[in-house]
Amino acid sequence: MNTPIEVTVDDVATPSKTKQIIKKNGLVLKKSLGQNFLIDQNILNKIVSAAELGPDKAALEIGPGIGALTQQLAKLAGRVLAVEIDQRLLPILDETLAPYPHATVVHGDILKLDLSEIFQQHFEGANGVSVVANLPYYITTPIIMKLLEEKLPLENIVVMIQKEVADRMAARPGTKDYGSLSIAVQFYCEPELVTIVPRTVFVPQPNVDSAVIRLRVRKTPAVEVEDVDFYFAVVQASFVQRRKTIYNNLAARFFTKENKPELEALLVGCGIEPQRRGETLSMEEYARLSSALRAHGCK
Ligand code: SAM
Repeated sequence: MNTPIEVTVDDVATPSKTKQIIKKNGLVLKKSLGQNFLIDQNILNKIVSAAELGPDKAALEIGPGIGALTQQLAKLAGRVLAVEIDQRLLPILDETLAPYPHATVVHGDILKLDLSEIFQQHFEGANGVSVVANLPYYITTPIIMKLLEEKLPLENIVVMIQKEVADRMAARPGTKDYGSLSIAVQFYCEPELVTIVPRTVFVPQPNVDSAVIRLRVRKTPAVEVEDVDFYFAVVQASFVQRRKTIYNNLAARFFTKENKPELEALLVGCGIEPQRRGETLSMEEYARLSSALRAHGCK
């Protein structure tokens, strides 16, 4: 899976080249924008290999920085579009991406852009689009949720994120990391941890451990539900107080003091012991539960 990519003299992902570009441009990196740049070719290889790119494929990168990952994506993918919020980086990207005319940079905030429109404009005719990014950590979850909820025609999402968040995305029921994020991600994708990443491969070094995760986007959600929003409302409610039982969490959100006793029968009817905690329920059990609550008139 991990085919090495040819390293060229233009590659910015070395400690000396990155530091040289930063110095030459008088760039002060912004912690508030999660600016930790990758300086390790090995890790870049692992990221791009996991994305399964090729000349007929396209890649959307979020936050190209000075182009370390963008260059490697452009070596493999037929089209690359990178969205960068920091205007100061655009002239640098013009230079570092000059050898790759099929790589385009758009200035903007990924959370505010209309991604369907971007897909139509830039990726029409591509035989598959993947998101590949070393994400700005301060907005990891909103970015992933936007990608999933907008139901974009994506193949893979391969992202470098905080290790702790990667663990939560891939967690199985009954573990301490399992929660509403695990369910949201696994509803739409099959997660797979690609590699754990030491802090030393970034400039500057972040103060958290990182991991690369691949989310293979499912053709259809993992479980069938009539009302996706309500399904996730039930999941959210079940984790409001992790240490409380599923009965107590759901009672607080969907029932009154008077009709609370009905919840016990409803849970038992779904094959769910009322004393269990939300963290022990599978996606299938949440599907049964949300359907029963909905049929019961809960909103
Ligand atoms: N891809 C580069 C690398 O691996 O070296 C840089 C990654 S750095 C962790 C995150 C990048 O995301 C920065 O360049 C930052 O300016 C950019 N960024 C932060 N917030 C963003 C947003 N809302 N939309 C687009 N880009 C953003």
